[in-house]
Order: sequence, then C-alpha cells, then structure tokens
Amino acid sequence: MIFRALVASILLALSSAAAAQAAPLPFVLKQVGPGVYAAIDGPQHKAGSNAGVVIGDDGVLVVDAFFNLDAAHALVAEIHRLTPKPIRYVVNTHYHLDHTGGDQALRDAGAITIAHRNVRGWIRTENVHLFGNQITPALRARIASLPLPDLTTDKDLTVWLGSRKVVVRTVLGHTGGDLTVFIPDAKVLFTGDMLWRKIPPNLIDGSVKEWSATDADFEAMSDAAHVTYVPGHGDVANLGDVRDFRTYLADLKRLVTEGRKVGLKGDALAQEVTPRLKALHPTWTISDRAAGLEVRYMNDELSGTKRRPVPQPD
Ligand SMILES: [Zn+2]
Repeated sequence: MIFRALVASILLALSSAAAAQAAPLPFVLKQVGPGVYAAIDGPQHKAGSNAGVVIGDDGVLVVDAFFNLDAAHALVAEIHRLTPKPIRYVVNTHYHLDHTGGDQALRDAGAITIAHRNVRGWIRTENVHLFGNQITPALRARIASLPLPDLTTDKDLTVWLGSRKVVVRTVLGHTGGDLTVFIPDAKVLFTGDMLWRKIPPNLIDGSVKEWSATDADFEAMSDAAHVTYVPGHGDVANLGDVRDFRTYLADLKRLVTEGRKVGLKGDALAQEVTPRLKALHPTWTISDRAAGLEVRYMNDELSGTKRRPVPQPD
C-alpha cells in the first residue's frame, strides 16, 4: 500500500514537472547576437514588455524586468539554462511598471539595479499616476513595494562584463529618465520604449519632439543597416522599423497640427486624425483607444500643457 502510494506520488510529481515544462513561456527568447538575446513579449502580452539578456565573460546583464513578476522569474530560469554565469546587473530603461515590475526577481537572483537618476524618485510615485483611474489597491501595494535602483546616473555609463563592453546611454523622449543599452561587438541596441514596432507608443510622459530627435540618432548610428534594434514593445526591429516609427511620430504631429488649425479639439480632433493615421500605417495595430490617447497627448504637447514627471534630485 505504502509502495503504491509512493509510486502514485512519484507519477504525480513527474506529470506536474512535465506540465510545468510544457507551460509556454510568457516571452519568446530570440538570439540576436553571440550571447545576446531579446525576450519578446508573447502574443498574449503576459510578460507586459520586452527584455534583453547579455552574457559576458564573467556574468550576465539583463535589460528590463517585464511587468509580470512570474515572467521575470521565468527569465531568470531561462538565463540559468543558458549559462552558469551569475546575473550581475539589471538595467531599467525607465521607471514604467511594465519594465520594472519584475526587478525583485532579478535582485533575488543577485543583480544590482542600474537606472536613470529620476527612476529612483519616480518608481513608487509616478507609476501610480501611470494607471490613472485603473489603479487598484493590489497594484498600489505592488508599486509601493518595488525595489529602488542601487546605481543611478544622469550620464552615460560603460559596464564591463569581463572583456565585453556594454554602453548605457541617457536619452530623451519617453519619460525624462530613459536609458538605452548598446552592445558594440554584437551591434545590438536595446532601445527600451524609445522604439515600438508597429504599435502606437505610450506618450503619457513623452515629448514627441525629443523622442524623434533620439530616434534620428538611432538611424545615424555607425553601420545602422546592420544594427539589431530591440524595441520595448513589438518584435525585433531593424533600421527600416526605426524609420517607420519616426514617420509615425511625424504623421501624428502633422495630422494633429492640421486638425488644430481648423479649430478641432477633444473627441472631434481624435475622430479626424484616427482614420488618417490608420490609413498611413496599415500594417500597424492601432486601436481607437490608443489613437485617441496619442492625439490627446500630442495636442497637449503642441499646446504647451503636457504634464511630464518632474526631474528628481539624488
Ligand atoms: Zn513599456
């Protein structure tokens, strides 16, 4: 009897292990260079954003930590499958919860968090604002317990993983506290949310003017035609996608400017701009809700009334 119970429990353990193994990852891990991986959010958006993994001689650097803590734990497990080297750093490209929500999983795995100086001041405050009236008590509690970054900067940084160079740059446009991560030997740029592929970007904290200038710099990188751009949202991108994204921002600005000139505002402005924006970008996924927000934020920027997070002291 005892033996049968033991066999049954072993079989149960084996089947649950098989089930755990069969459970699909919330992201797709794509190799984009030697020891460089893009973790692209799956079709059900369970991870909440993209992330990245850079394996050097003596350790691993991770770019962003998803929205979902379980997805970050799954990323840690995938990294341990790829390499026995320790996870030493996680770079937050900005404070938004869809990129910082899993930081604790990376910290628990041994990483120190690198972020723009403003992220330390914003991560537990501005993330509440980010959700507006969608905020729930559970989300509020999660945001209040987010770990603060360990190493903050308002300047460019070089991180060495043994002999592998990782260039962390401060850039302008998405939040006022944005970093990108470049691996020169692999020609891979992790852009954070400075680039979205075929999806309208979240402009809530953004300046389209600054954003477009930063993306012009992406296009002007040396050997840009051979650079792999890993966006914050959407699939792995190339130079054509960067151009397409910048065209989208320019179209949005132009259409909203034209609507304002003929006196349109509010819903009427959104109703005028949305179908034209969709027609210009037929391969993009643009919901009416997303387009409405794009128009509102663009209009605020053009009116000089755009709310942006206030820069933080150290
Ligand atoms: Zn994002």
